Amino acid sequence: MQIKENISLKPYNTFGIDAKAKYFSAFSSTDELEDLLSGKKSKTQNTKLILGGGSNILFTKDFKGLVLKNELKGIELIKEDENHYDIKAAAGENWHEFVMHCIKHNYAGVENLSLIPGNVGAAPMQNIGAYGVEIKEVFEQLEAYHIHDNRIITFSVNDCAFGYRESIFKRKYKNQFAILNVTFRLRKRPIFHTSYGQVKHELERMDVKELSIQAISQAVINIRTSKLPDPKVIGNAGSFFKNPEISSHAGWLIEQCGPNDSLSWKGYREGDAGCHAKQALVLVNYGNAKGEEIYALSEKIKDSVYKKFGVLLEREVNIV
Ligand SMILES: Cc1cc2nc3c(=O)[nH]c(=O)nc-3n(C[C@H](O)[C@H](O)[C@H](O)COP(=O)(O)OP(=O)(O)OC[C@H]3O[C@@H](n4cnc5c(N)ncnc54)[C@H](O)[C@@H]3O)c2cc1C
Repeated sequence: MQIKENISLKPYNTFGIDAKAKYFSAFSSTDELEDLLSGKKSKTQNTKLILGGGSNILFTKDFKGLVLKNELKGIELIKEDENHYDIKAAAGENWHEFVMHCIKHNYAGVENLSLIPGNVGAAPMQNIGAYGVEIKEVFEQLEAYHIHDNRIITFSVNDCAFGYRESIFKRKYKNQFAILNVTFRLRKRPIFHTSYGQVKHELERMDVKELSIQAISQAVINIRTSKLPDPKVIGNAGSFFKNPEISSHAGWLIEQCGPNDSLSWKGYREGDAGCHAKQALVLVNYGNAKGEEIYALSEKIKDSVYKKFGVLLEREVNIV
């Protein structure tokens, strides 16, 4: 457990932004986290950032404090009754690998959330959701370490105050807790969600005769792979903005606006910062964009949507 100094965060965020962390360390046990937090370098640095897969974060400047990369591992079945399995997953487990583990063991409930990048520990942060399902529906509890007073606290679903891409950890308790593990209550008898987006259509195309969580997961994987830019190829953090609570989607609103009357933001590029050509909601780094350039583009998009439609877009991505 070594604290590195002045390291590039480029490999640690899916936007591929080359910001630097003054201090950086990974932890793979709660004891290691405790040691890091009580160490001298931590004490002299007020700001700490718990990092998962870096797939929902935009670094707009160098980070002056201590970045703590969560590498806690382990997935276990902790309880079972007639209808449910309670599965506890450590925060540093990769989300999609966790979903694949559930699919393999017939634990139903997270199949629609296949292929979302990032780690288990960040999933409750914004109540991740896709294709008609959010994690709050299968969430049982989580354990989190209070960064300032070294206590482990258990949060129930109500304690987390989940909303659309929201939780208490993004608001009141922002930067106060390191989520250690999450327990999910998964079903023995699945409830299939196929009505959202193109899921039904893809299942038909796949010629699925009998619905299963395996088939739904595969359909979601197929749709996501064909629609969303792969961060390994082009830097991005998925939807940059939340969908506003009106009938129009943010992507559509952004498409209707642009840097001037004749241009749309969709496919627009300013240096290496841009708006994806297929998904206007996804801002991208074509190579060497700076975080502040992507942020500046997001501000222009927000302003133009507000001017044209009077709708104030809210960012989904965490700005650091
Ligand atoms: C191509 C693409 C598609 C995406 N699609 C979706 C989608 O369909 N639905 C969706 O909801 N999201 C989606 N996202 C966003 C992202 O994948 C999720 O928000 C994911 O949960 C982020 O996980 P992470 O580990 O990468 O978090 P990070 O980016 O590392 O962190 C995100 C925030 O959580 C905090 N954090 C991370 N781990 C912890 C922890 N253990 N304890 C306390 N705080 C922590 C960080 O400090 C930061 O503020 C997508 C992203 C990409 C790149």
